[in-house]
Amino acid sequence: MKNKVVIVGGGMVGAAAAVSLARAGCAVTLIEQAPIDAQQVLDDDSIDIRVSAINRFSERLLDSLGAMPLLRATRAAPYHRLTAFESGNNVLSFDKEEVNATHLGHIVENKLIQASLWQQFADLPITVKAFAKPAKAVRFVAEHVVLEYDSETLSADLLIAADGGRSHIRQLANIGVTGWQYQQHCMGILIKLDAPQQLETWQQFKPSGPVALLPMSAPYANLIWYDEGTKLQQLSQLSPDSLKAAITAHFPPLPGDFEVLQSAVFPLARQHANHYFKNRVVLVGDAAHTINPLAGQGVNLGFKDVDALTRSLDLTDIGAELGLKSYARKRRGDNLLMMSMMDACYFGFSNQLKPLQQLRELVLKVANKAGPLKAQVLKHAMGD
Ligand SMILES: Cc1cc2nc3c(=O)[nH]c(=O)nc-3n(C[C@H](O)[C@H](O)[C@H](O)COP(=O)(O)OP(=O)(O)OC[C@H]3O[C@@H](n4cnc5c(N)ncnc54)[C@H](O)[C@@H]3O)c2cc1C
Repeated sequence: MKNKVVIVGGGMVGAAAAVSLARAGCAVTLIEQAPIDAQQVLDDDSIDIRVSAINRFSERLLDSLGAMPLLRATRAAPYHRLTAFESGNNVLSFDKEEVNATHLGHIVENKLIQASLWQQFADLPITVKAFAKPAKAVRFVAEHVVLEYDSETLSADLLIAADGGRSHIRQLANIGVTGWQYQQHCMGILIKLDAPQQLETWQQFKPSGPVALLPMSAPYANLIWYDEGTKLQQLSQLSPDSLKAAITAHFPPLPGDFEVLQSAVFPLARQHANHYFKNRVVLVGDAAHTINPLAGQGVNLGFKDVDALTRSLDLTDIGAELGLKSYARKRRGDNLLMMSMMDACYFGFSNQLKPLQQLRELVLKVANKAGPLKAQVLKHAMGD
């Protein structure tokens, strides 16, 4: 009999897990509180302010799941160069040529990534269900996991929690988290840019927090502004013209004139689940880990979870402990390492102590000239 899997959460990571496991031969039920019409989303011209920089590992996974061709045909914007700097002459930059690649990654709207995966469901054994209220309970019965809703009770061999950072399933399974809220928040600003397609994404580290440009498919781009939450809330109340003036004063010069279309403020939290599985419940994506988005790694880590989970599970009994243990072993350390690297950047660059400032300058200078080491770091960031 086919392995039965229930996935709660059909965001980018849950949808990828659904396609990946259905292709591996499982019967999947996907529960999403806000189901989408994938074709409508892909055809829609309105632009999502939430974007992700997806690396080449994620691109390969999305290719293997059939989603990437749809993204290439819509608004995925490849970037060729990635630059980080503090002041004018203190620049660390990575170029596609340094790793003999055609591009380093893509900037894509989150809603398009999600829809390109949902579009695959039709040809696969995936049933989508929407429940108005969250599940009441998770129970373990013999070799099964049971998920209780007001109107229905579902039984499966494995329950996957892909319901985001505030995962309700993680709570029902009694899996605790450790972490904190960062003092800095971040504001995403969708702009229309009067410039040709940009191929460079950059980030400037400033004492109040970094600012960044993520070039989307022209004429759009996403600006990211990290700062104190109260400051960003005030900025978000400004008219588009006043916000434009504030951006012009705070950001390095943009490649052309621009119009502010939309902005949104996001609180930032680091959170890591104390366990990646319990009995027959397993966590993936933000349900398992949320990370400072400084280097845009969150969903890339989630896609790595999906790949590792699919490879680790024992397809004779998908909920068997050995496979889940192997998944947790592969992913926990890797996710923790990336979280710690982001924190080193966050704390290292928000500090104005003179010795630390000098150390930063040295690190950026040395790293920029570090030849093979630099290529290695770049390959890691690209997910190669
Ligand atoms: C400002 C910002 C910028 C970022 N930039 C990047 C980037 O450049 N690159 C990158 O890799 N990552 C980035 N990230 C991180 C990335 O957005 C997340 O890691 C990613 O969205 C996690 O996907 P997910 O599917 O695990 O969770 P989510 O996106 O949170 O999806 C969870 C899904 O579960 C559903 N759900 C929730 N509860 C229930 C329930 N009870 N029942 C049914 N369904 C439920 C939700 O509706 C949703 O569809 C950024 C994050 C932020 C905040």
